[in-house]
Amino acid sequence: MRQDIKQYINGEWVESHSGQTLDVINPATEEVMGKIAAGNKQDVDDAVAAAKKVYVKFRNTSLEERKALLERIADEYENRKEDLIDVMTDELGSPIEKSESVHYQMGLNHFREASKAIDSIQFEERRGDDLVIKEAIGVSGLVTPWNFPTNQTSLKLAGAFAAGSPVVLKPSEETPFAAIILAEIFEKAGVPKGVFNLVNGDGQSVGDPLSSHPDVRMMSFTGSGPTGRKIMENSAKDFKKVSLELGGKSPLVVLDDVDIEEAAKGAVAKFVQNTGQVCTAGTRTLVPESIKDEFIAAAKKAIENVKVGNPREAGQDAGPVVSKKQFDTVQSYIQKGIDEGATLLHGGVGKPDGLEKGYFVKPTLFTDVTNDMTIAQEEIFGPVGTIITYKDLDEAIEIANDTIYGLAAYVYGKDLERVREVAKALEAGTVEINDAGRKPNLPFGGYKQSGIGREWGDYGIEEFLEIKAIPGYFKE
Ligand code: NAD
Repeated sequence: MRQDIKQYINGEWVESHSGQTLDVINPATEEVMGKIAAGNKQDVDDAVAAAKKVYVKFRNTSLEERKALLERIADEYENRKEDLIDVMTDELGSPIEKSESVHYQMGLNHFREASKAIDSIQFEERRGDDLVIKEAIGVSGLVTPWNFPTNQTSLKLAGAFAAGSPVVLKPSEETPFAAIILAEIFEKAGVPKGVFNLVNGDGQSVGDPLSSHPDVRMMSFTGSGPTGRKIMENSAKDFKKVSLELGGKSPLVVLDDVDIEEAAKGAVAKFVQNTGQVCTAGTRTLVPESIKDEFIAAAKKAIENVKVGNPREAGQDAGPVVSKKQFDTVQSYIQKGIDEGATLLHGGVGKPDGLEKGYFVKPTLFTDVTNDMTIAQEEIFGPVGTIITYKDLDEAIEIANDTIYGLAAYVYGKDLERVREVAKALEAGTVEINDAGRKPNLPFGGYKQSGIGREWGDYGIEEFLEIKAIPGYFKE
């Protein structure tokens, strides 16, 4: 059992002022896998003070120094590969191969990418006699969710370090151990004391005082809408900059010329990956009426082939969802879909056969869904998909955009002119064409209630920068 009950503040592992701990549950076994500190406001105050003390020094480091730091971090991250994969498999329930190919890899990509992306930012620009400078914003509070323990933390940390902003990180109390390994990585890589501070604990005791702290200049948050709103309200008191990555209900528009079997497989993977706990999950598959029956038959076959099981065993497509709370939420949405009159094509309430222990959910797909149903409008965050039919492309675009969210969208089709037309018409921060894949050098973020701001690569660095104009700087 892990006993990581210290906070990392000012380059030291220190006791929490609270003296309290929180249990962390392995969702595949329902057993306590370890303990973390249940931090409090005093821990946050210490961490913010440590970050504030080093702000000017870190801000003034050269770009070369920060690039080298990011590379050292990436190297050390590679050295801890097995530990990171192990811990994410246990704390999140991610199938072990996905812990490597998705979770481990995404975290690494962000450090390497930020080191490169520094070069594409114009930190100083001469305009005649005047100068415009971009410089680190200052102490930044980072609050992250449980669904991608290394990705969500690393992308923010890489952006802040590249910019020269010191941070206080509060990772999710449900998946905190990957962040503890990150702290060890930073220590080894020589991140200067005070630049990285880790305060573990829950949202109310740590996240709240962090977003209310007057010395924090910027809050970067990924998580649910209600928490994002609370962070924004707290930040409004002293007008902190806020960057929010929130939820999604992403459409996948299937055109009528697709290879139906391939498209159905892709569509199912979009809402099953990471056991559906993905903010960009393609949870609304929009299918033309003309190919509806064949598509549904192919989707049934695809979802029947999804393997759910012990995340430690090779060959699984999905593990359990992260917690009992998440399990109950997903169950209630599945029941709601049935109650609202959608047709259950596969799955349903209850656990998959033979997986009574652990928070396992049946991959579930509904057809005969209309876009006004709860399961088509609200984020479920479990392996539950919907098939909605459309008559023509205008209707497809209208349905796709008829959501409070705008994080991601997908288009499948062979006629690239039509595909591009649809991609441009969709209101989302990322519109992926024919599984092109998301790349760490592209901006990531949402329209509408999916958030504010952009992360990843140079866009992610810019979030942690302030802009200063110095008129007359070059005047003799
Ligand atoms: P959550 O909002 O419950 O928690 C996220 C983090 O906020 C946790 O660390 C939590 O402890 C903290 N928190 C809770 N209350 C707080 C408060 N009052 N003040 C400050 N911090 C507080 O979200 P979750 O359940 O961990 O994650 C799931 C949600 O995250 C989903 O809605 C999902 O769509 C969203 N998400 C979005 C993205 C994205 O990039 N857009 C990525 C992953 C997850």
